[in-house]
Amino acid sequence: MSEEKNFIQALIEEDIAPGGPMAGQEVHTRFPPEPNGYLHIGHCKAMCVDFGTAEKFGGICNLRFDDTNPAKEDNEYVEAIQEDIHWMGYDWGERMYYGSDYFEQTYQLAEGLIRKGLAYVCELSAEEFKAHRGDIGVPATSPWRDRPVEESLDLFRRMRAGEFPEGSMTLRARIDLASGNFNMRDPVIYRIRYVEHHRQGTNWCIFPMYDFAHPIQDALEGINFSLCTLEYEDHRPLYNWVVENADVPCRPRQIEFARLNLTHTVLSKRKLRQLVENGLVSGWDDPRMPTLCGLRRRGYTPDAIRDFIDRIGVSKSDSTVEYGFLEHCLREDLNENARRVMAVLHPVPLTVTNYPEGQSETFEIENNPNRPEDGTRPVTFSRNLYVEAEDFLEEPVPKYKRLYPGGPECRLKGAYIIRCTGCNKDAEGNITEILCEYDPDSRGGDPADGRKIKGAAIHWVDRDTAVDAEARLYDNLFSDPEPDAGGKDFLSCLNPDSLQVLDPIKVEAGLAGMEAPASFQFLRQGYFCLDSADSAPDRLVFNRSVSLKDSFTMPTGK
Ligand code: ATP
Ligand code: MG
Repeated sequence: MSEEKNFIQALIEEDIAPGGPMAGQEVHTRFPPEPNGYLHIGHCKAMCVDFGTAEKFGGICNLRFDDTNPAKEDNEYVEAIQEDIHWMGYDWGERMYYGSDYFEQTYQLAEGLIRKGLAYVCELSAEEFKAHRGDIGVPATSPWRDRPVEESLDLFRRMRAGEFPEGSMTLRARIDLASGNFNMRDPVIYRIRYVEHHRQGTNWCIFPMYDFAHPIQDALEGINFSLCTLEYEDHRPLYNWVVENADVPCRPRQIEFARLNLTHTVLSKRKLRQLVENGLVSGWDDPRMPTLCGLRRRGYTPDAIRDFIDRIGVSKSDSTVEYGFLEHCLREDLNENARRVMAVLHPVPLTVTNYPEGQSETFEIENNPNRPEDGTRPVTFSRNLYVEAEDFLEEPVPKYKRLYPGGPECRLKGAYIIRCTGCNKDAEGNITEILCEYDPDSRGGDPADGRKIKGAAIHWVDRDTAVDAEARLYDNLFSDPEPDAGGKDFLSCLNPDSLQVLDPIKVEAGLAGMEAPASFQFLRQGYFCLDSADSAPDRLVFNRSVSLKDSFTMPTGK
């Protein structure tokens, strides 16, 4: 977290200061993912806020799997979520819990409310419930509100015992049917559901609603600051009602912050699952996905993601962040840290006609100009090279400073000065070979006489030693910047060109046999990493993590 205090930290500081409502308490937060999908970058913001805030105050943060709702939860997700949190550099120590572990206590606390006359069993069906909901200025009603405590207690126990069908009864908190806040109009706190729970099996057929279960779970764990996203702001009075009226050991405070929205993607597990289940991406970890496993596979680093989350800040107003800013943060990180190599994505043979046949030499080329301590690597050179197709034109266009017959001298990066003399073509007119001559007195790339080189510096690989690889170039998953915006069918906003495969590309021999994770800057091309799923030492597959060029311009004043 940055040095500056955000509004959450300011509130906590007041609360724990001498004289504050939580004077002297250790800050204790929780991160409560629902194990029904993989974490995405939005969850990651919450994770950084929850763990980061605790860290900032020297406190602790629990990991709590919010598996209160029995649908679609799975151990696969439980494990993946833990891996993602650790990858981001956070740790919950011994404090990993499951919301469902509190089912018995939660049930007992609900009985306690009934005994206090603060909850009752209501027999309105879902449809009737709607009809009795009232309106702005018109209170809700329930014919069951004043039923005797003993009767509610008996019915609630029988609900638990499985005597009643789904939807026939609910337990409702008895709060205020006339409240202007509809969440307070005697909200349902338990419902009947005959579904198997991934941890509890068929032990339960009644399940607490989130608004009831969450504050209880927080309080039972001794959480004092329950940080959540803004959509829960209207639920805070209910949160407070529960911790005040149920017999829980402490009274946590809920503080809401704005959720993260990103352009050109969707941040909803439900929608991400649709992409996976419809085969529109290769899986939750498809490198185009905004999931942490997708970003990791794409070549994102935890540092880049944390930097991004830090820089977008924590506030109370909703906003949408440009996807380009996330890329900008990655580019900054990789620019600093990634090893430079040469790879030719659209290879065309180039022959240095005055370089002796059968001869070869090795150049030591710097790995990273930003980190001289990273040293150099050997790169072989011979008469036979590959260069990028776009670095040659038979007929130059205005201002073209690369290779064309009779064109300017160009530098082969780290090697020699060359000048293009011609080319060979096949019967269809495709360029099959570029012909050049080199200046033997320019070893390392600088001419002996110090003359100015007017042409571009060009990357190359040695045809005699180059290794074949596959490159996957990615673009935005959605071409529409707001696929999530109201009324749109997000699936119709997909970018048909979000994946382009180049095979084979030609990479420096030194990359042969490498294994993921490994990130590189392909000179003049972008940042690439070995694909953790598909790359093998004898069959390299690279993902383009991010291009070199920054399309993002920092808003002024930031
Ligand atoms: P989704 O809609 O993607 O399923 P969710 O809120 O249902 O999200 P949870 O697993 O319940 O998913 O979320 C875990 C935590 O992450 C919660 O505290 C939630 O508020 C937070 N969270 C979810 N989405 C975002 C987001 N876009 N920005 C910030 N926090 C988020
Ligand atoms: Mg949720």
